[in-house]
Amino acid sequence: MKLIDAHIHYCGDHPDCVQALEALDVKLLNVCVAYSPGGWLDQKERYRGLAKAFPGRYAWCTSFDPPDFAAAGYAERVIAGIEADYADGACACKVWKNIGMELRKPSGDYVRIDDPLFQPLFDYLGRAGRPVLMHIGEPRECWLPLDPSSAHYGYYSTHPEWHMHGRPGIPSYESLIAARDLVVERNPKVRFIGAHLGSLEHDLSEVARRLDRYANLMVDTGARMINLMRAERSDARDFLTRYADRVIYGSDFFEERSQAALDLDARRKNIVLLGQAQGAERAFLESTDMVSYDAHTFPGLGLPAAVVQKLIIENAHSCYGL
Ligand SMILES: [Zn+2]
Repeated sequence: MKLIDAHIHYCGDHPDCVQALEALDVKLLNVCVAYSPGGWLDQKERYRGLAKAFPGRYAWCTSFDPPDFAAAGYAERVIAGIEADYADGACACKVWKNIGMELRKPSGDYVRIDDPLFQPLFDYLGRAGRPVLMHIGEPRECWLPLDPSSAHYGYYSTHPEWHMHGRPGIPSYESLIAARDLVVERNPKVRFIGAHLGSLEHDLSEVARRLDRYANLMVDTGARMINLMRAERSDARDFLTRYADRVIYGSDFFEERSQAALDLDARRKNIVLLGQAQGAERAFLESTDMVSYDAHTFPGLGLPAAVVQKLIIENAHSCYGL
């Protein structure tokens, strides 16, 4: 195995896709995103099916419906669903940013991840020893005016629904991060993976502070390699070396449509894009050459081989059991 991409949304359900993964010798952890109640079950079916059919190339991470305040027994239903999914091969459970930034209680208040509503779920996950991939909040720039020179301008300029700048009543960046930190602190038996460098990508020292404070926290690099590339090279190098056991590589490549339903050209194009993204990100970690990425070039970090192996394979093994 050359690489495990432990945060991806790729429904490569055509033989072409599986062959490409064989040729690249990579394994993918497909992550379900619970956009709405029941609105993610098609992803679940596809990702679970891929992991069953091609266990050497695919694994899957389940999720759970956002809260429904009209019906009682929410936590019990969620726990039963997750328990069944783990029995069916899921290797983790994902929490998405709609908790904190979108979902509201009947009172109008935003639902935060530290709400007592979720505590039985974390109690269960701690008892069961199941990792939680936690995407809470967004990059800090989500709350700032659009800036074409910023790392995630491409996303916020095309996803205005998630750009929080200037929106009255929206929870602050700091309040979301604090709620997430509180949950990690209150649940030391739960292994949390902070997706997207724990939404602290603007400052690696802030990520480091949490990793120092919380032994039960790891982070993944999903869609945040760009921040490591844009950081001071020595800072990125020191961070990844010091926390080589706590950072898990993921591309967050996003192509959740069934690839079997696309025509040959579209399917091949996606395979090429996936291989290019993983190839460039890996090259950034291990080589000292200039690496082309996101219309820029960045000097590679030239990390020691043993560190790179931890980041791109071993940590995903030990954390998710892949
Ligand atoms: Zn993702």
